[in-house]
Amino acid sequence: MSANKLNTEGIMLFEQPFARVPYENYRKVFRTSQKNIEKELGAVQTAASDIAKRAKPESSDAEDAIKAVDGMITRVENLKRKLADLQSSSGAPTLGVMRERFQHLMSVETMQTTNDPEFPRWADTRLDRWLVDWSLRNGKEKTAKMIADDRGVERLVDIDLFSDIRRIEDALKQRSCAEALVWCSENKSALRKVKNTLEFDLRLQEYIELARAGKNIEAIAYSKRHLLPWQETHLPQIRQASALLCFPSTTTCSPYKRLYDLSRWHSLIQSFRLAFYNLSTLPSEPLLHLAMYAGLASLKLPACYDPQTKNVDCPVCDPSLGKLAEEVPFSHHVNSTIVCRLTGRIMDEDNKPMAFPNSGQVYSREALEDMATRNDGIVKDPQTGETCEFSALRRLFIS
Ligand SMILES: [Zn+2]
Repeated sequence: MSANKLNTEGIMLFEQPFARVPYENYRKVFRTSQKNIEKELGAVQTAASDIAKRAKPESSDAEDAIKAVDGMITRVENLKRKLADLQSSSGAPTLGVMRERFQHLMSVETMQTTNDPEFPRWADTRLDRWLVDWSLRNGKEKTAKMIADDRGVERLVDIDLFSDIRRIEDALKQRSCAEALVWCSENKSALRKVKNTLEFDLRLQEYIELARAGKNIEAIAYSKRHLLPWQETHLPQIRQASALLCFPSTTTCSPYKRLYDLSRWHSLIQSFRLAFYNLSTLPSEPLLHLAMYAGLASLKLPACYDPQTKNVDCPVCDPSLGKLAEEVPFSHHVNSTIVCRLTGRIMDEDNKPMAFPNSGQVYSREALEDMATRNDGIVKDPQTGETCEFSALRRLFIS
């Protein structure tokens, strides 16, 4: 059946971060290796040209040269050891994760339809991954680890990534910017590329804390060192920060009161989390929600928000899922999702919709037939109380 054909492209739309996260991790390993190579080989080259410049046939120079060559050898040997360590501790495991994830994605391409016996298994694994993602984003790390371990999907989920997030956010909750600033410096060029200014916000917060503590001299020195480099883009904020030193933390003067407001720490946590998601190419909302939006949008009907026409078996009619569905548009395929209000089953060719002659209320043939057999061929509309013979019902056709 064509309706069951697997929409591989649609499936892959959700999978970009899944493939991207280990790729980015591997790129980091690669860059660290490259930096090490450049640094060490650069030093070796300098040492070599030094020897060449000073080369004279005197014995003391020869001894120096031998010492220098020994130093060069030690450097290269250390470099070799460092790279091997990096490869075995980070490189190889990350490659393993990448391989496993690509295999997981590739396996869905070999399936033709959703009837493929492998598909439900694949979809179950995907749901497990999304549940782990949801738990991690909501600070339920133990639950996440339990699901990952129980279902054997450790390499398909990003638990380590989220422990990094938690560590840095915990520090921010304790009002320390240090960890987040280290993260910023590790990702300096990537942050600059997306024009993210989290680092300035963190620096400003450290400055505000100095002002709060009345350490004005330290605050001025801090500003010179860490805020002024941002003057091209943040001059108004820097000026305001300078004026802050004239106000105590108890001030009621509004711009300065806002700067001293402790809720800024909360905003910093949020900005950090968004920056982290952005750099890791993770969506800002749980994948589970995104997938559910797609599903809910295909079911959502105006009837879902009318207490008169709520259907117990419709996910959108459910109060909690209906809340999620508020964000999504109404279904365009109204006809493909007509659900009987009595049985909760979809009305289609095999279970046609039928209407009462006067009220026009529509229910499924199955429900009305069932009602008629129990009532000597008479059916009653539960909404309006209208009664009639089963044979008097109008058949509707699904176009
Ligand atoms: Zn509904």
